[in-house]
Amino acid sequence: MRLTRINKQILLSFLLTLFLGVSINAQKKSFTIVIDAGHGGKDSGARGVVEDEKHIVLDVSLRLGKMIEKEFKDVQVVYTRKTDVFLELWERTQIANHHHANLFVSIHCNSATNRSAYGTETFVMGLSRSNETMDVAKRENSVILLEDNQEKYQKFDPNDPEAVIAFEIMFSAFKDQSLDYARLVEEEFVKNGRSSRGVKQSNFHVLRTNGSPAVLVELGFISNQDEGNFLGSELGKRKATESLFEAFKKFKKEYDRKNGITGEEEVKPKEVEKPVAGKTFKIQILVSKNKYGPSAKQLNGLTGVEVVQFGDVFKYYYGNTNLASERDDLLAYAIRKGFKDAFVAEFINNEKLEGNQNYRIQFLASNKKYRDRDNKFGGLKNVLRVKQGNMHLYFYGSTKTYEQAQKDLKLAQDKGFKSAIIVTFDGEKLIDESAKK
Ligand SMILES: [Zn+2]
Repeated sequence: MRLTRINKQILLSFLLTLFLGVSINAQKKSFTIVIDAGHGGKDSGARGVVEDEKHIVLDVSLRLGKMIEKEFKDVQVVYTRKTDVFLELWERTQIANHHHANLFVSIHCNSATNRSAYGTETFVMGLSRSNETMDVAKRENSVILLEDNQEKYQKFDPNDPEAVIAFEIMFSAFKDQSLDYARLVEEEFVKNGRSSRGVKQSNFHVLRTNGSPAVLVELGFISNQDEGNFLGSELGKRKATESLFEAFKKFKKEYDRKNGITGEEEVKPKEVEKPVAGKTFKIQILVSKNKYGPSAKQLNGLTGVEVVQFGDVFKYYYGNTNLASERDDLLAYAIRKGFKDAFVAEFINNEKLEGNQNYRIQFLASNKKYRDRDNKFGGLKNVLRVKQGNMHLYFYGSTKTYEQAQKDLKLAQDKGFKSAIIVTFDGEKLIDESAKK
């Protein structure tokens, strides 16, 4: 739509008022970040191979906000949405403007019909101005700051060249900061082993109408099998959040330096969380009489779930950590993914099973009877065969500790037995819970 002269005038004077408001706000020792999870509600965004965009970006947004709130007491975190709801683009920018955001971060995922496309990219608002024009505008900045009566810039006249320059400065100032954060984000992605497509300029509505430094981050292509799997996983979301957070820390430090704020961060040495000694935490998400495969819908998209068979029940464990903070994050994530009764299961390291009990890896079930070292076993040796009804179950390994069982499981999975599970045995017999009663 073409803006009429009068509309343009109203819009520009409105934005200029915001600009002055923001510069006053910047004097205070407070900082507001607005985190915008793209899409939501009826708008799913890009379709992912594992999970759709609106869910991934909401998850990353909530994590990022939580990390910032935890580490920066002087930062106010505002979310455009905290749940799966639909918002218009103008509502998002209105939230940023209303809160006089010092940084606006809109989080998205890419997708492409070419499924081989992958990598991260961060956008800032693109202006079709030459560098020369921008330099002129910057030089004129000093003139405006020296002006006694700044009132005149609030009444914006697009025909007044001086006012036009003031307006351009407003965007160039934001643009420099936007570029700073965008570059930091892409640098952090690369440090985390991601492939960066770089910082780009584009005319996104969500960036264009915003009176703050603003970036739009594309976390990766969820249409790509590898990147879609990665961003659909807990690890992928955590890594993506860490990149955004590390970039924010650097951006904020620079902001504080420019504004003469000395941070606590430099005074106190950084605390590194110590692992909990002798324990491993997992999240038990489900107990069932049924065995579900790694991509079963009952796992609600959680990846890397370990299945352990005890007698006739299957227990499903998610995650693996010895850090208390990570344990809490994993639990919160499992609950968000719909496992309302999930809880933390503690494993004592090197704890041995009692008596003759041991863990084995069930990697194959077939109505055929295979010889020892059959090609079917993919090189797994010392395979135990157990006949159950007219089926033959094949087991690899035998160990009394859960840690070794996990290693055996990993080995079997690496050999291509993706649905392998851990099973508890008594000697060479499957534990039959029902027989004990
Ligand atoms: Zn998007």
